[in-house]
Amino acid sequence: MQLILPHQAEDWLFSADRKQRIRMRRTLVASAIYLLAALGQWWSAGHGLADPDLARWLVLCLAPGLFGFFLLMRTGVNLRFADPAMTMQQMVFAIVAMAAAYVINPPVRGMLLMIVALVLMFAAFTLSPKASRALGLFAVTVLGLVMLAMATHAPNTFDPTVERIHFVFAAVVLPVISMLAGDLSEMRSRLRLQKTELQGALARIHKLATRDDLTGLINRRHMEELADMEQRRALRSGSLPCLCLVDIDHFKRINDHHGHAAGDEVLRLFARHAAASMRETDALARWGGEEFLVMLPDTRPDEARMGFERLRRLLSRDEAWGEHAHMRVSFSAGLTAWRIGEPLRDALARADQALYEAKASGRDRLVEK
Ligand code: GH3
Ligand code: MG
Ligand code: MG
Repeated sequence: MQLILPHQAEDWLFSADRKQRIRMRRTLVASAIYLLAALGQWWSAGHGLADPDLARWLVLCLAPGLFGFFLLMRTGVNLRFADPAMTMQQMVFAIVAMAAAYVINPPVRGMLLMIVALVLMFAAFTLSPKASRALGLFAVTVLGLVMLAMATHAPNTFDPTVERIHFVFAAVVLPVISMLAGDLSEMRSRLRLQKTELQGALARIHKLATRDDLTGLINRRHMEELADMEQRRALRSGSLPCLCLVDIDHFKRINDHHGHAAGDEVLRLFARHAAASMRETDALARWGGEEFLVMLPDTRPDEARMGFERLRRLLSRDEAWGEHAHMRVSFSAGLTAWRIGEPLRDALARADQALYEAKASGRDRLVEK
């Protein structure tokens, strides 16, 4: 439910926490209904239908009681409860209040049974099916006892035949409503669970679609998407990134001498160190096999060169490879500045040419084109 209030006023009244707001609004709606019922009692008393003293007591007890629930939520005390919506407490309070109203205002007591039915519907929001059924039973018991007591002690006002009819109505309808509310609540929690599972599945699918399994780096397809976005961004900012193709030197030898599994481990270690030595805004992808593509936004080629020098120094240290220090590898790189309006394909061809020159001129170096 959306109350029409300016945002700041709503924040002040209901707190900025979305869940707390929902709980408070629900409490207010319930309170408004009970308060209306209580004011009805008062009005009835004014017209000689109800005992004025008792009606006044009911209103006086009901109003602070309901405001109390709102206050507990506004101050955050409700968050200490297992159910911060305090559904059970609010419903017990409302059922007892309606039972009291039943005694105070005999002529319209039949109407109160409808309000009790409405109260039981609130179980659909948070209560378990078991708790909902228990509450339905509680309502029938409390009302039944009140009807029995009044039919016995004041049969002139509370006609025993009418009380019997009321009781049969309450004993049939209220448990059915509780059951339905319980079912609804169960459906809600099933849907919530499904939503969480779906979110998890979606996250897994997104990871599968965008990440490389072996290294955890972004994959080629996702890098192409990022490059596309970067190019569109460049139309506004006017600055395109540097692109750098990186290829591990003599990687085939690692596989041949130490096995494919060791080769995989070298790829993982290389990816981890490369990612760690890049800036957060840089994108590093496994472009294929033992080849990586780095996209460095807002970076001049000389700055990019310094970044790769850092990586080279890092990879030359034993600690970088741990137990695989004997397999330590070097890399060659082809760096280029992506030009405005230039297709990615063309920029990559230039980087590839630079990489080829790096390999041809002895490897373990970066060539810029
Ligand atoms: P160069 O210095 O010229 O780049 O030589 P190189 O041996 O690194 O290059 P080459 O292209 O001859 O060999 C690349 C090897 O990388 C061949 C391929 O089997 C291996 N490779 C590709 N993908 C993987 C992988 O995921 N895991 C492992 N272990 N090896 C891979
Ligand atoms: Mg290679
Ligand atoms: Mg290669």
